[in-house]
Amino acid sequence: MGGAERALVDEVFDTNWVAPTGPMVTRFEEDLACLTGFAHVAALSSGTAALHLALRLAGISAGDEVWSATMTFIGGVAPILYLRGKPVFVDVEAETFLLDLDLLEAELARAARRGGLPRAIITTDIYGHPIDVERLSTLRQRFGFLWISDTAEALGAYSAGRHAGAGADFMIMSFNGNKIITTSGGGALASNDCAMIERARFLSTQARDPAPHYEHSTFGYNYRLSGVSAAIGVGQLAVLPQRVERRREINLRYREQLGDRSGFSFSPEASGVRANRWLTTVRINPAAAGYDREVVRLKLEEHNIESRPLWKPMHMQPIFAGASSHGGDVAEQAFAEGLCLPSGSNMTNDDVDRVCEIIDSVRTQR
Ligand SMILES: *Cc1c(COP(=O)(O)O)cnc(C)c1O
Repeated sequence: MGGAERALVDEVFDTNWVAPTGPMVTRFEEDLACLTGFAHVAALSSGTAALHLALRLAGISAGDEVWSATMTFIGGVAPILYLRGKPVFVDVEAETFLLDLDLLEAELARAARRGGLPRAIITTDIYGHPIDVERLSTLRQRFGFLWISDTAEALGAYSAGRHAGAGADFMIMSFNGNKIITTSGGGALASNDCAMIERARFLSTQARDPAPHYEHSTFGYNYRLSGVSAAIGVGQLAVLPQRVERRREINLRYREQLGDRSGFSFSPEASGVRANRWLTTVRINPAAAGYDREVVRLKLEEHNIESRPLWKPMHMQPIFAGASSHGGDVAEQAFAEGLCLPSGSNMTNDDVDRVCEIIDSVRTQR
């Protein structure tokens, strides 16, 4: 927590607006709109809920194709299944793990020729690096799909001077406990389309038609964010710039200490991009390093330090066996070699140095 959160929660208690409605929820939505540049934002109970609503608002129904990057977190694709859509996974770039836009463009052109363009595409700003928003906007114009930007990991990141996800039809945010800022649990859906966000609020509060009694012409969900969580969120937004700054410092420190070890490579930052460096990841090429990332992970574990392989690609997950995909080898290779390092904003320089020393102590296994 940053410091202001407790007073803001007190305000919610004092005014008795603890329920998922009221001035603090509105204030959080306005603050998020201001930060991201989107005109309208609905505060929700999770990022997964935000994506579910985005897909529902996009009109996805049984059998509709939704394309997404294969390397992502399950919450960034599972809602496709909630609506019985058909996920199609697209490979990523080797260095940034972002959706491979050359491959995407080629596959979209092929899909257009056979008359099978996807209705929606989900891009994931993985580990806090935003996708090229200008190129996405161009592709969207050319091929006419709905663009949903999963920016759950990239709050406070910028591309070409605009917030991550700018220009998307829908942008989703997450304030889960592990994200760069948190409301304990929460999320948000942003769009420049006022009617869509109004509809998202309607669907997130059980789709109650205007009437003195409970009247329903469709079904909704119980997805609204509570006033208590919104108060925490308003407080957290005040410290987001410091959080981003610290994560970037941690990333730099890892690079400085481990960047020249043979076989180690760190994700670059594309030109014009300011990533939030939510997680620092490293790729370890076993042929060059003399050991693989699993040796490093277990060594850290011996010291009670948690690290984790990169997100396992969706086309490799048992639940998606049989799903279609375009490519996937690059993501598979990245998954085999990549490790997410401890990256919490509250890590001290000594903490980072200790992780580096332990990694440094790993010697060739041959
Ligand atoms: C965390 C995350 C989500 C889901 O957000 P929740 O708030 O945990 O539901 C979706 N996509 C990505 C890429 C995430 O990292």
